[in-house]
Amino acid sequence: MADNTIVDANGFFGEYGGQYVPEPLIPILNELADTYNKFREDPDFRREFEYYLAKYSGRPTPLYLCSNLTKELGGAKIYLKREDLNHLGAHKVNNTIGQILLAKRMGKKKIIAETGAGQHGVATAATAALMGMKCTIYMGEVDVERQKLNVFRMRMMGAEVISAQSGQRTLKEAVDEALSAWVGQAEDTYYLLGSAVGPHPYPVMVRDFQSVIGKEAKQQCLEDEGRLPDVCIACVGGGSNAIGLFADFIDEEGVKLIGVEPSGRSLEPGQHAATLCLGKPGIMHGFNSYMLQDEAGEPAPVYSISAGLDYPSVGPEHSHLKDLGRAEYEHASDSEAIEAFFKLSQSEGIIPALESSHALAHAMKLAPQLGKDKIIVVNLSGRGDKDVGQIEEMISKGELSLP
Ligand SMILES: *Cc1c(COP(=O)(O)O)cnc(C)c1O
Repeated sequence: MADNTIVDANGFFGEYGGQYVPEPLIPILNELADTYNKFREDPDFRREFEYYLAKYSGRPTPLYLCSNLTKELGGAKIYLKREDLNHLGAHKVNNTIGQILLAKRMGKKKIIAETGAGQHGVATAATAALMGMKCTIYMGEVDVERQKLNVFRMRMMGAEVISAQSGQRTLKEAVDEALSAWVGQAEDTYYLLGSAVGPHPYPVMVRDFQSVIGKEAKQQCLEDEGRLPDVCIACVGGGSNAIGLFADFIDEEGVKLIGVEPSGRSLEPGQHAATLCLGKPGIMHGFNSYMLQDEAGEPAPVYSISAGLDYPSVGPEHSHLKDLGRAEYEHASDSEAIEAFFKLSQSEGIIPALESSHALAHAMKLAPQLGKDKIIVVNLSGRGDKDVGQIEEMISKGELSLP
């Protein structure tokens, strides 16, 4: 797991992060931070974590050279880190395995989690079933309606799904309700957060569990190319797959790190979720970070074609890396993501998640500008099977045509 290098004892990355939560949550979070510190380097804990990553999720995932796509674009070599080949089809299970093993060490019997698009809910329900824990997932009522199949998957694996009825009835309300439910039952219940966001210690823990992505990619690139990549690219929603890829490269100054946010339909307010590109620092969900805000400083409405990327804040470590200039943050629109979605499907026979398609879209812009001796690693955070229905519907409505 990555070294706890740039976070301080109070959970700040520079000025970002921290614990901006109601009083009763502070001792609960501090207990979690202490337990995590105790186990993060514990050989038994790490052995068990690595065991499930390998045997349950199928790691290591390959680093795959896209020869056809590279040839077509005529520039830098494009490699994909194949997180889509994990159990459940995305990187999210790396984190749920890590946190659920920690919950077990803490003697917890129940898991609660929030989910927006449902992917984190599914990964949590699966790992809770695996570990024999009771599982409750909070999901906004609107999302429950939109993501019926994922709700059914969670229920099939034994989880209870509670629909959040307040406010906009989406992810933000699900988080609010899950956090307040946690306060009353923290004795036997673990809150399993799905991205590198939230109050300390979640951003550090989630990064460490996801850092297996970059560790493997680094090793694999050294084996295949005898050197490190020139550029690493990942999409950014909450920022967990991106920080998981970046973590082991942060100290490698020759490696450029690029996070790609969704610019949706346009850069007008409410039409995108490009938080680092267009937001400003603010506090929500218990931490300080770049945030898209309305005039009153409240979280602004966000939009992306990809349900896994529409979050108005972002992991605090990314805000810090942006201010330091160590990582760059760019954006890709819905239509650029769709173009990349079809391009990878047709050039390599790999259907990417719409989230990951944003990272690919940027790689496709960049590759032709770089020499053939350059190497780009793109984190293919998930597979696109979950998005095929959405794309098919757009085609049948005439909003899109198959290239
Ligand atoms: C959830 C998800 C994301 C976005 O989450 P991050 O925390 O930003 O990584 C990206 N890709 C896929 C496939 C996802 O399921």
